[in-house]
Amino acid sequence: MLKTIYFGKLSGIDLYLHWTFWLLIIYLFLSELGRGVGHAVATVGFVFTVFICVFLHELGHAFSGRWFGVQTHDITLYPIGGVARMQAKELTPFAELVIAACGPLVNLVIATAIAATWMAKVTWETATDIGALGPWEHLFIVNVALFCFNLLPVYPMDGGRILRAILKFFVAKDVAIEWSARIGQVLSAGFGLYGLFTFQISLVIIFTIMFFVCSAELFQIRLRRSMAAGTGSWPQPPWGGPNGDLGGDQGGEVIDAEDFRQVR
Ligand SMILES: [Zn+2]
Repeated sequence: MLKTIYFGKLSGIDLYLHWTFWLLIIYLFLSELGRGVGHAVATVGFVFTVFICVFLHELGHAFSGRWFGVQTHDITLYPIGGVARMQAKELTPFAELVIAACGPLVNLVIATAIAATWMAKVTWETATDIGALGPWEHLFIVNVALFCFNLLPVYPMDGGRILRAILKFFVAKDVAIEWSARIGQVLSAGFGLYGLFTFQISLVIIFTIMFFVCSAELFQIRLRRSMAAGTGSWPQPPWGGPNGDLGGDQGGEVIDAEDFRQVR
């Protein structure tokens, strides 16, 4: 019944809306129906608008990648965010930095554009009364949240890649990956514990996933060192299970940050 929708190509990039996206739409529509059909339709419309912003974020990665000769195969929107599948390619730290930063920068531009029109008519009373905010103001808040959340220096967020790229300016590639993964582990563990102690289960789930992604990065770099050293011995994976490939990204494939974001 529910199908992944193919929208066509934009500048050579295939665009998809994953079938699970409709589950989110149906869930939101039904959960908001109690407040009236108009409210439910408005909520769904707002979610579509948010996902247009997520889509534009992915285009930010895709088009900046093109400046450095990296092609994007496709962009798919999931309920938890967007994924841009980009050509695996060895990149300079500068290229990696620009490509990772251009996604969040799109959200910053959108937020700034909304703020510019909003500021022209806002008063202190309307600005501090959240209940009085209209859809544009909510969209401003969403884009600021997308910008900030994506800049968290934790894998698989854009901030993790930005940190890795910056470290590569100063230390060897392997060291940069290891340090950025360890910083990501510490931060995700910290945020996860904060969520645990404040009973915010969504935070616990999100940062637990991030902790494992950071651990997988560490595992991959240890594996590569082990193979390069010719020892032939595979390190024990951090999750304690059998060795396996979680999908490499070192060449430049961007499995995007919004993978783990909850839409609010
Ligand atoms: Zn991104």
